[in-house]
Amino acid sequence: MTKNQWIDAHCHLADERLEAQLDNVISEAEGLGIHFFMQGGVGPEDWQRQRDLAQRYPGKIGLCFGLHPYWVAAHDEDLCEIALDQLAPLLPHALGIGEMGLDFRPHIMKDSRERQIGVFEQQLELAEAVQKPMVLHLVQAHEEALRIMDIWGVPASKGIVHSFNGSWGKAQDFLKRGLYLSIGGPVVWDQNEKLHQVVKDMPLEFLLLESDSPDQPPPRFKQSLNQPASLWDVAGKIGEIRGMPASEILEISTENFKRLFHYDGN
Ligand SMILES: [Zn+2]
Repeated sequence: MTKNQWIDAHCHLADERLEAQLDNVISEAEGLGIHFFMQGGVGPEDWQRQRDLAQRYPGKIGLCFGLHPYWVAAHDEDLCEIALDQLAPLLPHALGIGEMGLDFRPHIMKDSRERQIGVFEQQLELAEAVQKPMVLHLVQAHEEALRIMDIWGVPASKGIVHSFNGSWGKAQDFLKRGLYLSIGGPVVWDQNEKLHQVVKDMPLEFLLLESDSPDQPPPRFKQSLNQPASLWDVAGKIGEIRGMPASEILEISTENFKRLFHYDGN
């Protein structure tokens, strides 16, 4: 049997909560055929931790740098400008730009609505300039994100909507703009019929699988930190809905990832 080389399209292995158990988390995933871990960027401190991680686990870490809406919400405009200046020269060394986007949940957003929009627009421009696919984080801001992307244009290098967890109508809004839907732990929950409908109807060539470790655990990991091994739970659920083996869903997601991010597996 050939060794499978599947990809977790989005996780946070640089997250400090995983630090103590990271060797185990990675070897467990590798034992299940998952060998490459695309990161979601948060802010300057995280970008540095990602680079350290890539040195510690050579060839296994997909670098992704961007200013997450959480980070933007927690820092003032001057610090956001400084971070954006630091971000631009790093991007040629990354596979993608992000996380970037909008999070309008009141407890996250506070006074940052306009700042989030401004930083999102600047990262759209950067994505176009460096031609890197975007990793979008959009929560309770679907309409506003579409409005902004329709004004500025979706960058030619496209991107993913990470942890997509909306209706089929919303899914179509992103799919028709050429964006991929990255699906994680939320699809595994039996009561999430809305998302089950999406994975049933969407074209498989726009599907990616992610763990978003250490967050968004499926039921089996709900008492602990999430980890990339849970990708099998996600693939299993989607496979059950589509009438396909989980391994085939993992294979399709991995091929889609390589095509979108111009990653050749080396
Ligand atoms: Zn994330």
